Formats: sequence, structure tokens, C-alpha cells
Amino acid sequence: MNIEQVITRLKEGNARFVEDKLDGALQDSKRRDVLTSGQEPYAIILSCADSRVVPELAFDTGLGEIFVVRVAGNVANSSSIASIEYAVAHCGSNVIVVMGHQSCGAVTAAMKGGNNGYNINHLLAHISPALHACGANAGVNEVVRKNAEMTAADLVNRSAIIADAVNAGTVAIVPAYYNLDSGKVDFL
Ligand SMILES: [Zn+2]
Repeated sequence: MNIEQVITRLKEGNARFVEDKLDGALQDSKRRDVLTSGQEPYAIILSCADSRVVPELAFDTGLGEIFVVRVAGNVANSSSIASIEYAVAHCGSNVIVVMGHQSCGAVTAAMKGGNNGYNINHLLAHISPALHACGANAGVNEVVRKNAEMTAADLVNRSAIIADAVNAGTVAIVPAYYNLDSGKVDFL
């Protein structure tokens, strides 16, 4: 599938999810057998770890279809970028979706500030640029959208592997916003 076809596939799968019409394909023993020799996921999803946001369900995908990297706040840190680099370089994925979501707890925590201990402070620092870009009066969902957009841009700036693929036209990066209530993914 080319970039346009992948985005169409993701949108169609999400429409099925929203309408409670998951097809549940490619989740059986036959599919597992096929995949033992390798994987060619067509998309990479950088998503939050939030239990309410499940990319495989949200896009109605089965085994081996999407390469999902989950970290609170869907931030681009060394580990999440390295995981994405692997899929770009070795799996032939040609779309990267950076997906924030409604009422994200990590973004909310970043907005509150304060000292949350070494690890959480480190994670939340990755959301600071979006906070500053939105200003003090922004709501959480505005910051979530900005964080997805800025993280998408950041991937190119911080990874030669991703930048080369984008410049060659083989990979596209798309920011997105997941609505907790409807299940709809808005491509930004
Ligand atoms: Zn979240």
C-alpha cells in the first residue's frame, strides 16, 4: 500500500470502530503462522499508554498490521524514536501517526507542573514545548493537539533515519487526535 492507501485503510478501520462494526480480521492462527517469518506493518502509531486508547482496536487491525509504540503523552524520547526508526528501516512502514487523545493525563500533569519525581518530570518535559506554544489559558485538549503536531515535527528533527525517509517521500508523518467518547480519530 502507498501512503494514501494506508491512511485510507486507517480511516476505514476507525469508522468501523466508531460504528461498533469491527471486522476482527487477521487475528487467528492462520495469520500467526504467516507472521512467523516476518512482519510488514504498514503503519507506525505513536500513542499514549492510556488504557482507553487502543490503536489496534481504534483502527480495527489484526496481527502484524500496525507497529504500535506507546508511552504516556505519546512523547518522542530516545526510546520511542528508536522504536519508530526500527520500523521505518526494517519493516517498510510508510505512515507514522502521532496520536494524542482527549483528556490525556500526562498532558494534564504537565500543565499542573510541580515535582513529580525524576522519571515523570523527565517525561513531562517533553510536553513543555506544546504547553509554551499554547499559552497559559489553553485547555488540555488544545495542548494535546499541539503536542501531537509538535511531536510529529520533532521526529524529523531528531532522527536522520526518519528524516531521510520523509524526504525521500517513502514515509509520511500524520498527527492525530483520538476522541475518548466517540472513538473517532481526527487526523490533524
Ligand atoms: Zn494520555
